[in-house]
Amino acid sequence: MNKIEHIGIAVNNLSKSVPLYELLLNTSCYKTETVASEYVNTAFFKSGENKVELLEATSDDSAIAKFLAKKGEGIHHIAFAVDNILEEMERLQANGFTLLNETPKKGADNKMVCFVHPKDTNGVLIELCQEIKWV
Ligand code: ZN
Repeated sequence: MNKIEHIGIAVNNLSKSVPLYELLLNTSCYKTETVASEYVNTAFFKSGENKVELLEATSDDSAIAKFLAKKGEGIHHIAFAVDNILEEMERLQANGFTLLNETPKKGADNKMVCFVHPKDTNGVLIELCQEIKWV
């Protein structure tokens, strides 16, 4: 894996948390995006080379809604950038990690993503993401 691509933080209310993180990081939110398939609204911030993603549930069926109900607001996942998500998924599976999706799915911010079950990673939800390149 290449680097931490972003840190995902689950929040109750983006309209409150976006200005809060703008104040905290002293930078404007550069992108908001709804991922309908995941029932989430997202907002992205840059701090130097690093990115923070805020996630808000749009439905009780959202994994974010379930996370918030169980644990409350806080760090939800750490995302790592990979060059070849299929190879990385295969490597992790071969090493006994449980993947939460069998095939990469379209995530926010122009990425194909796959999640690794936190039971295999000391309680941390890991996201693999590969930039979608248009040729
Ligand atoms: Zn993410």
